[in-house]
Amino acid sequence: MKKYAVLLTSLLAGCSQSPDFKTFPKIDMHVHLETQDDSFVQALEDNNFKLLSLVTRSESQEAIHKDFVLARDLHKAHPKTIGFATTISMEGFGEPDWQENTIAWLQESFDDGAVAVKVWKDIGMTFRNADSTFIMIDDPRFDPIFDFIESQNKTLVNHTAEPKNCWLPLNEMTVSGDSSYFAENPEYHMYFHPDYPSREELLAARDRMLKKHPNLRYVGCHLGSMEWNVDEQAVWLDEFPNYGLDMAARIVHFQVQDSEKVREFIIKYQDQLLYGTDIGITDSGDGSTTAESAQNLVKNVWMNDWEYFATDHVLVNSDNGKEFKGLNLPESVLKKIYHDNAMKMLPGLGQDSAD
Ligand SMILES: [Zn+2]
Repeated sequence: MKKYAVLLTSLLAGCSQSPDFKTFPKIDMHVHLETQDDSFVQALEDNNFKLLSLVTRSESQEAIHKDFVLARDLHKAHPKTIGFATTISMEGFGEPDWQENTIAWLQESFDDGAVAVKVWKDIGMTFRNADSTFIMIDDPRFDPIFDFIESQNKTLVNHTAEPKNCWLPLNEMTVSGDSSYFAENPEYHMYFHPDYPSREELLAARDRMLKKHPNLRYVGCHLGSMEWNVDEQAVWLDEFPNYGLDMAARIVHFQVQDSEKVREFIIKYQDQLLYGTDIGITDSGDGSTTAESAQNLVKNVWMNDWEYFATDHVLVNSDNGKEFKGLNLPESVLKKIYHDNAMKMLPGLGQDSAD
């Protein structure tokens, strides 16, 4: 009898029961919702998903306002399913009233239910001082803004720099998504722009800013632009044990590294990694609804990622044809990266701001 029980246990372990995708609580904490059509929300509810929509524009308050209103209205209509992050405008940066106006805008955003503030890569890579040097994220003029975010118990969600591939020639890039993107967008391909700050300079400025604000709650987007090697991420996560990294649009970089090493890395840093995709839901313009886009996202993005993290299936990279193995992460780890870490690092997500 005892022997039989042991055998049964090992058989069950061998067939790796992964939790059920549909009912497992999931948060995609890096999406961009730019639509008034909320018919996509049903697919989220059917699959137990919450989203955090990041408003991402800095060139002017007018440009921000358009996306802000869309995100805010979706949140107000579906507070338990959709949260949003506001952002700051660089219009008038350096003028005497910029800080005051920016803080007033953030207060208004928080009153409207924003749980976080997104600061984009254009800080460090686009905006310049009068002497043509780049405005970096550790510029002291940002300090009162970050202090205010911290004082309001909100989170800074920050995309700094670009993937390392951006500084390499096209034929040395490790992921074909990057080589096709930079082939089409040479203006963003830093290999051709040695006069811009390097990835290392951008990340060093970010880290200096974080050291000035040790109690600011912080999530770095896109694996903190350290996606190319989990060892580099591990060093950073050890140095900043209270901060998180989202995986948005960089899961493919896990998939080209050694599976066992990536698995061990995610298990070790299970309290600091957050699931995200960088998907967008916009109006198609062809009359199709966002409900159809959401169905496609469930099938083509969210379930694929789930298969990678939650099962041990052998999967095939669609752009280079190479095989890689699903990570088959323990359920307790999946729960953290898919849900608990986002709830912890983005307080207020999934709550009705009118409550
Ligand atoms: Zn994004």
